[in-house]
Amino acid sequence: MTSIRFSGVKTRFGDVVATDIDHLEIDSGEIVCFVGPSGCGKTTALRTVAGLLSHDEGDVYFGDRLVNDLPPERRNAAMVFQNYALFPHMTVFDNVAFGLTVRKKPPDEIADKVRSVLDLVQLPDVGERYPNQLSGGQQQRIAVARALATEPDILLFDEPLSNLDAKLREYMRFELRQLLENLKITTVYVTHDQTEAMVIGDRLIVMNAGRILQDAPPSQVYHRPADRFVADFIGTVSIVEGRVAEAADADGLVRLRTSDGLSFWGNGVGVGPGEAAVACIRPEAIQFAPGSERDARNRFEAVIEVATDLGEVREIHLTVGSWKLRSRVPASMALEAGERTEIEILAERCTVVRP
Ligand code: ATP
Repeated sequence: MTSIRFSGVKTRFGDVVATDIDHLEIDSGEIVCFVGPSGCGKTTALRTVAGLLSHDEGDVYFGDRLVNDLPPERRNAAMVFQNYALFPHMTVFDNVAFGLTVRKKPPDEIADKVRSVLDLVQLPDVGERYPNQLSGGQQQRIAVARALATEPDILLFDEPLSNLDAKLREYMRFELRQLLENLKITTVYVTHDQTEAMVIGDRLIVMNAGRILQDAPPSQVYHRPADRFVADFIGTVSIVEGRVAEAADADGLVRLRTSDGLSFWGNGVGVGPGEAAVACIRPEAIQFAPGSERDARNRFEAVIEVATDLGEVREIHLTVGSWKLRSRVPASMALEAGERTEIEILAERCTVVRP
């Protein structure tokens, strides 16, 4: 186990700055997810940790040790790839044993280790099979077992669930999270899937255009996004544009004067009076049966435009003047398209951030 630190790390491909990371620390045993849209630099950051890419500026440390020039094979980091990268002509046993065989470990030690990691990924009986005799989910677990067999200090995952179908992917997220939690190995995990990142990561590093926009635990990223891009990328959100009209009150709420002249209260994050800003409204912040306190903030008359039954919940699209909002309510709640209704948007659940 080891900690990882990036200091002023820049990686360029021609004119493209793939990563520009001023400062990043990953604690020993922590599970960190790099998340962001295609091309944001997350794979480049992962490959920099692995030593598969040399960066142009800055320093990377494992603990106190500068590793800029340390080749991949001496970093004791193991990588799990999107396509599993299992050797098709080798049995599962030989695949998992590969790193140990290369290191010329004694056969007894190899057999014990392979058995123990196959147990760990809950596939104790497949050692004699070949990869093509396993399901996608099983192959992925074997790839994890192979990575674990060499007892790495750092585990690296590059979109490991992307090749699985949606249902299996959803299941494997939780399974992988549980496994990683028990292992307590420093883990860097790359995904473009925000839900996967929220399940897997102790911390999310949200990236765009090579830079880190936010580095925080998943619930903080969701409830207090650093800016509009982060709010939009992580979870469902409705955005209302405007300008900050009043600085934070005792509760930390700022008043946004929206572009159509309404007032909206929400938690101000990095915005001050007079600045352009946007309100980020999560579906669950919208209440359809507000209480009777007369001075409650963010009460509006809304029109239900679309109400779609999704089984467990109803997805509601509504408008407040020119705002377009999305919400979800229990399936039992009788809301129909065309209805006018009073809503309250809970100010303490909303953020007002940089546009
Ligand atoms: P994806 O989810 O699509 O894999 P990513 O966030 O992992 O994207 P990177 O692969 O790190 O993004 O790429 C970051 C930027 O660097 C992109 O603009 C990409 O086109 C560029 N890039 C990455 N690798 C190379 C390369 N070998 N040669 C040239 N440009 C590259």
